[in-house]
Amino acid sequence: MPPLPKKKHTRARKGNRNAHNAMKLPALSICGGCGEVAQPHITCPECGNYKGRTMPGNWDRVNQLEQVTPVAAASKESEESESL
Ligand SMILES: [Zn+2]
Repeated sequence: MPPLPKKKHTRARKGNRNAHNAMKLPALSICGGCGEVAQPHITCPECGNYKGRTMPGNWDRVNQLEQVTPVAAASKESEESESL
């Protein structure tokens, strides 16, 4: 005969033990690349943005951070178009 518990565990004892087993909602933040709600510290599933860079892969959306042209380059282009 195998070893058995000496006494029955009460409903309260089981309930108190299982009180810590509830599922928790994931932490959410706003993606800096596309503005969608995404989990922090994880690559955005929409645009692949992570820490301001686009991770390799095929993403549904385009990371808007990489479309921004530097201010100096944009002003030079506008001056050239005015002179012509
Ligand atoms: Zn994103």
